[in-house]
Amino acid sequence: MSFREFLKPEVVVEEEVSPEYEVAAILHRNQERTVLFNRVRGSELRVAGNVVASREGMCRALGTDVGGYLKHVAEAERRRGRLVEVEAEEAPAYQRASSLDALPVLKHYRGDAGRYITSGVVIAEDEELGRNASVHRMLVLDSSKMVIRLVERHLHTYYTRALERGEPLEVAVAVGVHPAVMFASAYPLELRRDELEFASAILQKPLRVVRGRRVGVMVPADAEVVIEGRITPEMHPEGPFTDITGTYDSVRLQPVVEVLGVYHREDAIYHALLPAGVEHRLFMGMPREPGIYVKASEVARVRQVALTTGGCSWLHAAVAIEKRAEDEPRKVIEAVMEAHPSVKHVVVVDSDIDVFNPRELEFAIATRFQADRDMVVFRNMRGSSLDPSAQKSGRTAKLGIDATIPLGERDAHRRAEL
Ligand code: MN
Repeated sequence: MSFREFLKPEVVVEEEVSPEYEVAAILHRNQERTVLFNRVRGSELRVAGNVVASREGMCRALGTDVGGYLKHVAEAERRRGRLVEVEAEEAPAYQRASSLDALPVLKHYRGDAGRYITSGVVIAEDEELGRNASVHRMLVLDSSKMVIRLVERHLHTYYTRALERGEPLEVAVAVGVHPAVMFASAYPLELRRDELEFASAILQKPLRVVRGRRVGVMVPADAEVVIEGRITPEMHPEGPFTDITGTYDSVRLQPVVEVLGVYHREDAIYHALLPAGVEHRLFMGMPREPGIYVKASEVARVRQVALTTGGCSWLHAAVAIEKRAEDEPRKVIEAVMEAHPSVKHVVVVDSDIDVFNPRELEFAIATRFQADRDMVVFRNMRGSSLDPSAQKSGRTAKLGIDATIPLGERDAHRRAEL
């Protein structure tokens, strides 16, 4: 389970490129293709981006396909995975000692605060809560400090608990991991469940881990790069940063990470994850779909779920159901909003509609939806801080659209056959 075993470059850039804007621009132009950069100015490391460049690619990485994805992951969530601890000598991640300055950390967009690490899986351990792995952006401040964006989820809890004990929180940041590890780390598991173990459960293969050199946490032994450090009580402005919507996220005071050591493989490849790019959206959006599927399945026979790409893979959900009762779409709409509170618009369609095809979705809305009958509006709901149209407080209006055919009217909707 390594990054390089999955990596299949489709474009190889041989000429030297700048980590400032140039790598990001090339990744942006080649969103559906994996790009390998052999020479990036100022670093010995190679850089790869768009490593997972499609839904099909993500499913392949997770050992499934688009049709089987939701069940595959939902079932893996009920299994236990297995970590195998290896000795330091057997861990490629620690082959070379390096420094933060030696890494090809990118500046992506004009207006971003600076150079950001965007593909870092941050691992922490807590005596009571166990291990946690989650993905966080980190702004590099200088050769020994970064500032980390901590949304108030699990790692924030670990951090707060460490501070209450009067200690900084020791972390290891793994860059360049197998997509299943990154996916699991972006998955909304419950607190106290170990995302690294979940990655192993998804692939039904053991994950090799190694004890950190200067921090008391386990690290994927086959990572390309490892940054060890501690999250301190010191705060520093973080942002602006281009997030999943492709608009600038606001500046907030966030914790400073003091870097204790940087290590990498011989011939390491740094994973560059383009903010708001296809790969970012896949890693952020797809891990939310199985939970929506499970919740919506409590009220209807669900066939497919998509956080659609036009909705930034975050704000719009489309759910295809096999409708058995007229009130099911409405129940599905509420279940989706409960399962993924960031969602803003939900469309429910019949199972003949391909939820991954925007034209099909629009067709369903055009021919099966009546606004005075099939629409439900919610006011003043908890929403996503990433939606620039939401109120400053994060409150937002939401809309559910039932674009399913009324049960008694199937004949009028029969689609022409050739
Ligand atoms: Mn967690």
